[in-house]
Amino acid sequence: MPDKLLPFTRSKLEEIVRAYPTPFHIYDEKGIRANARALKSAFSWAEGFCEYFAVKACPNPHIVRIMMEEGFGADCSSMAELVLCEKLGLTGERIMFTSNDTPSAEYVKAKKLGAIINLDDITHIDFLQKHAGLPDLLSFRYNPGRLREGNAIIGTPEQAKYGFTREQLMTGYAIARDKGVKRFGLHAMIASNELSLDYHLETARLLFDLVAEITREVGIRIEFVNLGGGFGIPYKPGQAAIDWQALGKGVRDVYDEKVRARGLHPLRLCMESGRAIMGPYGWLVTRVLHLKHTYKDFVGVDACMANLMRPAIYGAYHHITVVGKDTAPADHAYDVTGSLCENNDKFAIDRMLPRIDEGDLVVIHDTGAHGHAMGFNYNGKLRSAELLLAPDGSVRQIRRAETIDDYFATVEFPRV
Ligand SMILES: *Cc1c(COP(=O)(O)O)cnc(C)c1O
Repeated sequence: MPDKLLPFTRSKLEEIVRAYPTPFHIYDEKGIRANARALKSAFSWAEGFCEYFAVKACPNPHIVRIMMEEGFGADCSSMAELVLCEKLGLTGERIMFTSNDTPSAEYVKAKKLGAIINLDDITHIDFLQKHAGLPDLLSFRYNPGRLREGNAIIGTPEQAKYGFTREQLMTGYAIARDKGVKRFGLHAMIASNELSLDYHLETARLLFDLVAEITREVGIRIEFVNLGGGFGIPYKPGQAAIDWQALGKGVRDVYDEKVRARGLHPLRLCMESGRAIMGPYGWLVTRVLHLKHTYKDFVGVDACMANLMRPAIYGAYHHITVVGKDTAPADHAYDVTGSLCENNDKFAIDRMLPRIDEGDLVVIHDTGAHGHAMGFNYNGKLRSAELLLAPDGSVRQIRRAETIDDYFATVEFPRV
């Protein structure tokens, strides 16, 4: 299998590791910006196109600021994510608030910030009105149920907890209009980590058709369509990334056919992608602590699933590079493990890698999205630092590692 690329040489990484102890996540600013620009350019034909970066994928203010500098907004779904944006001066319709099972305080905050509120359920129209008042602009999340297949991470749409049914959508828009809402949006996110271009074009087709039906049945104008997140990335070597140009061109064709031809233009397009924006531009760097040979060969590293949960919870593949051994044959099968007292704390199972020695540096790829962000403290494990590799090659710590004091900060110790 071909190896995946790293944004640093071995000697550069060794220099970084001397300054910042492992484990840590490191993000490549140059790659992030180039990717953001490629996406924007693919949709330059679409007036007012906006990517709302899904903050939950990498909720670090330095990262969200890079997104702002690239002209992106933010997709939030919790109080902390809203506050993070507020602290950066990112407010108003640059925020898309796509939450579910939402506490009233979060609606109050989103409304105060002037965010675009994207409701997950028809009962939330009244709930929002009661607690925060209805905004002029309101968006609804659609769940197509049986009309569409989902995929492994999100599950089939019928089983998914998200969104309105088609009937609820029609009723919901009419209710909102009668309550004085003036502007309307439509959103769907049906799959997660989906690499197929056709799948995403099919979603666009479905949503544009739905815009026509809503316009006809309810008599309102839909102002924007949010194509959601769920755009996949090539976690495995040999997989192809989604080609932004091809996506932009494909969506344009569908737009011309379903929106322009029906006189529904202009319809603003947006996305709320997290993974496809950040995922490939983060790496978890960890060091080998122990080699263990029992019924299998185990490589114990100093990171654990508290630093990256995806392999443990979804069986997700993350590519692994053993630093400095790129030319050695991958002729050893290893389970690469963390130290949690949980047998699923494994970054890889039966992975063919070059012979590994104690002290080797191991890099786990594609941790820029849903990596550090999913971290937790089970078993007293501490979340790692996050570093940013700047385009000039300098490295900055953008979040320090947690300490034991952080871990105990919320605890009341009994007197001794
Ligand atoms: C998680 C999430 C996203 C981002 O998903 P990616 O897979 O990172 O693109 C976008 N929108 C909503 C509503 C989400 O829950």
